[in-house]
Amino acid sequence: MATELTKPGNLRIGVFVCECGLNIAGTVDCAAVSEYARTLDDVTAVVQNKYTCADPGQNEIKKAIAEHNLNRVVVASCTPKIHEPTFRQCVADAGLNPYLFEMVNIREHCSWVHQNEKEKATEKAKDLVRAGVARARMLEAQTEAEVPITKAALIVGGGVAGIQAALDLADGGHQVYLVEKEPTIGGIMAALDKTYPTMDCSI
Ligand code: SF4
Repeated sequence: MATELTKPGNLRIGVFVCECGLNIAGTVDCAAVSEYARTLDDVTAVVQNKYTCADPGQNEIKKAIAEHNLNRVVVASCTPKIHEPTFRQCVADAGLNPYLFEMVNIREHCSWVHQNEKEKATEKAKDLVRAGVARARMLEAQTEAEVPITKAALIVGGGVAGIQAALDLADGGHQVYLVEKEPTIGGIMAALDKTYPTMDCSI
């Protein structure tokens, strides 16, 4: 259900563009991306940082949330796999629901893969920021809940992927049920005579 904050006119989005030293700024024109972000609807504050995940960068986010009464935050930096939890905690510390945060990857998706095409990398970064802001407009505050689970997994298929998944889950302390329709496990792999590069027997 839509909250009051999602109504047009109530959105106050902050965009934080990270340079990551030269990791991003060496290829992407961060100033141009920041300027572009300022032109987007509902964007109330734009801040460019050298290292957004470092304490000074996080403090800039907290400061902007307070000063501009931001109710959405977009960070344009690196993969969310590393720092999404960092920034969720950062916005939560500033009093914002951590799920009103959106992350855009202008490092792995722009500067790192388009190092020889600076203008195109910058244009792509603008597009990603615009998309991130669009997603941020749709965000709703979420609450986390803990629910009881059965610590067991059913894996259908005893090929290489199924076997590896079973081993990984078992290593993680889960009961595993591996189901295979054939009389033996190993799948296609088990039918191979040798495998590259060792040319060993496949099983
Ligand atoms: S937030 Fe990501 S891109 Fe920015 S400085 Fe930290 S590691 Fe680099």
